Amino acid sequence: VKVEEKLYQNRYLVDAGRPHIRVKPHQTPSRGLLAMTHLCPAGCYNLSESGQVEVSADGCVECGTCRIVTQTTGELEWNYPRGGFGVLYKFG
Ligand code: SF4
Repeated sequence: VKVEEKLYQNRYLVDAGRPHIRVKPHQTPSRGLLAMTHLCPAGCYNLSESGQVEVSADGCVECGTCRIVTQTTGELEWNYPRGGFGVLYKFG
């Protein structure tokens, strides 16, 4: 079973207007942040046409990879979703 198929087992409750991850404004992303467009298991990161990395945290499985990868660059504001929001795991 592919990861993408497994992700369909999860449900996600969007906290509208209060994303729990934000990318701070930047001109050029660090290599780590850029790599997130490939590393995020939920595909939350994209590269915009103007070369900036964007995040859409809906569907985030809270694995923490992006938080660790950008730990030294400080490019992200990363918080867990408010209680009751975010990913809902069906199987553990
Ligand atoms: Fe993607 Fe994991 Fe970061 Fe969520 S915590 S945006 S799933 S890398």
